[in-house]
Amino acid sequence: MQATFKVHRYDPEAGGKPTSQPYTLDLPEDATVLDGLFKIREELDGTLAFRASCNRGFCGECTLRINRGGRLACMTRVATAKNKDGEITVEPTRFVRVLKDLVYDVDRQLWQKIKAVEPWLQPNGGVQPEHEHIIPDEQLRAVRNAMKCYYCGLCDEGCSVIPFDNTFLGPTALTKAYRFIADPRDHAQAHRLRLVGEPKGMWDCVHCYEADEHCPRGIDPTARIIDIREKAVAMGVKSGATNPQVARHYDSFAASVKKTGWLDEGRLALETWGMRRIIGLLPVAWRAFRRGKLPIPYRHPKRPGAERIRRIFEKAERRPS
Ligand code: SF4
Repeated sequence: MQATFKVHRYDPEAGGKPTSQPYTLDLPEDATVLDGLFKIREELDGTLAFRASCNRGFCGECTLRINRGGRLACMTRVATAKNKDGEITVEPTRFVRVLKDLVYDVDRQLWQKIKAVEPWLQPNGGVQPEHEHIIPDEQLRAVRNAMKCYYCGLCDEGCSVIPFDNTFLGPTALTKAYRFIADPRDHAQAHRLRLVGEPKGMWDCVHCYEADEHCPRGIDPTARIIDIREKAVAMGVKSGATNPQVARHYDSFAASVKKTGWLDEGRLALETWGMRRIIGLLPVAWRAFRRGKLPIPYRHPKRPGAERIRRIFEKAERRPS
């Protein structure tokens, strides 16, 4: 089988701009993209830099963008990945700092974010217990699923917030946070929830579910982020120390829907940000008014069925958390 690899080449130390270098290869029918990269390096161009380790889809080292989508190079067959012209584009993942060719700064992209969620057990306020803490296996089932994460970063690659703000913790780090928040042996839940409740943390997730689509381990990172949000609400930790407006937003949203059956956006803005900030938004309000998006006088009547919605709220509030 013949295929042409169009490989991202860039050496920041040498200067210049990134290029896409074509290499045409003869490969076995069952070859993977990683096999192709090794063949290029061993037979055509020894200067090509890329990362790989287990070659089994287990370590996540060879995460790359292959034909514009995040994939593990060792698990991607050339025969199915190449386009109708027999070409395969191989690039680093998006938004990373490229160190050379296909090698990028994983420390900045992944490890620093994971470190920020304190990825270690914190039993008894940090004091190591004197005895082994054994718990039934079923209590750890959810945690075990999250422990399958091998930090491939494919969920971050698919994330729809990171393209706008690369300082967002991202689904990989938040999945790691979940792993400890859900662990019954950990006693730092409130501290952890405040940590990931700060700006750039769990409340910045827009739950588009792209992370779940991208995770090769079936961990469903978006669902895990929603799990820790629910835990935060149940524990009354609705924001970090620097963003109390998140908690106000949450409470106002729920109170508005409970009262009138739908969201009162005027009330939401006022209760979330306070009068001083709202005054600063007057130019926005003026533009909205001119476009017919802000009716004056502002009214927010109850919608039909509001009573039923209120009863649903009351039923949920009576439920033990
Ligand atoms: S949660 Fe899934 S996609 Fe994200 S880093 Fe872990 S294994 Fe990879």
